[in-house]
Amino acid sequence: MRVTDLIERKRDGGGLSREEWAGLMRVYAAGDVPDYQMAAMAMAVYFRGMEDGEIEGLTAAMLESGERLSLGHLGRPRVDKHSTGGVGDKVSLVLAPLVASCGVVVPMMSGRALGHTGGTLDKLEAIPGFRTDLPLDRAVAQLEQLGVVLIGQTDEIAPADRRLYALRGATATVPAIPLIAASIMSKKLAEDLTGLVLDVTTGAGAFLTRLEDSLALARAMIALGERRGCRTIALLTDMDAPLGVACGNALEVAESIALLRGEGPADVREVTLALATEMLLVAGVSTDATAARARAAQALESGAALEMFGRIVVAQGGPAGLVEDPAAHLASAPVRRVIAADRDGIVQRVAPRLVGSAIITLGGGRSRTTDVVDAAVGVLVHVRPGAHVAAGDPLFTIHARNEAGAGAAAAELAPAVTLGEASPPVRPLISHRVTAGGVEELPGTVAD
Ligand code: URA
Repeated sequence: MRVTDLIERKRDGGGLSREEWAGLMRVYAAGDVPDYQMAAMAMAVYFRGMEDGEIEGLTAAMLESGERLSLGHLGRPRVDKHSTGGVGDKVSLVLAPLVASCGVVVPMMSGRALGHTGGTLDKLEAIPGFRTDLPLDRAVAQLEQLGVVLIGQTDEIAPADRRLYALRGATATVPAIPLIAASIMSKKLAEDLTGLVLDVTTGAGAFLTRLEDSLALARAMIALGERRGCRTIALLTDMDAPLGVACGNALEVAESIALLRGEGPADVREVTLALATEMLLVAGVSTDATAARARAAQALESGAALEMFGRIVVAQGGPAGLVEDPAAHLASAPVRRVIAADRDGIVQRVAPRLVGSAIITLGGGRSRTTDVVDAAVGVLVHVRPGAHVAAGDPLFTIHARNEAGAGAAAAELAPAVTLGEASPPVRPLISHRVTAGGVEELPGTVAD
């Protein structure tokens, strides 16, 4: 196999066989293909795409480059959720304990912030002492004991994906649908799941901003999951504005605890309950959507999900009193600055990328994988599209480490809210449900 021949064929619009993808990833994972050749291949895929069989071959090769969990002995359904990311998306922190408290095993493997989007691992690590880097044997032991674990991709899981993903980040080849599908599913399929629910975000704050691309990604991932016996469904959720109020790691942990208490913003609660409903259905714990949703809501209202979150925190090294008194444990930034509306109007847009970028400026996000994040900083977003505001009403509250950071973030946030005279079109919070059987347009779920 000559790597240049493979790159040339892909560059010219041809396909690679499953065996060729397997061979290429094997030598890449072994360090025998230089990054410049793999970068050229990723760029060729970016422009030329991949056939279904090629995506399957690449996914299998990345999956097989590492270890896989073996969880059949737990004797219960095992379901994870994966989100394609956004700003203010703290759903995993609420969803994992909620679904686990309903009797489903949840081996949740999450990622870090990169670019304008936040990452569940950084949010969890805002909890003092919380370890997301558990070795696989400890993760399995926690699943046996608690039925849920929240970890990151370890060195053992899909190492070929880890290397390729970092390379894509440095070569502007992340937003290629076949590569995203193979990357996500190679990690998810390593978890030995019986079911997977995908939260495919769409809109200005998502990886993929166009609805048709989000649908294509959902379909590609579902095909990969179903072909390997993992029941996979996707909800398309709106990421045209930040989700919830809190954006920034410790702030989002506090908001997640509020949600687990039955409080918190309606949009996050709605997305969480919709995903929980699908997880319970995929697990076979509930047989119809109404019963599944009632069961999920009950887990929130009874305090069972909150209690489970507290147990996860302690099991993974965090403080015992976190859920009772989050403020006593979470870092808080010393400088607060409110950005207010300069006139009356109706909010047309709240630009999620500007909010995400302001968080990076404050030190709470990452522009490179090696950046260290400041858990305390962030932005509270007080308005949503459609809100009526009067001059002087708060739009954002910046939580900064110092005045210079607050000033820089304020400059970035200044154009983030657009005001107008008429109500903007209402975007559904959850627009489509995608299964192996097809795409169903949902009847306009809105948050409030
Ligand atoms: N998340 C991943 O894990 N991989 C991608 O390619 C994009 C998002």
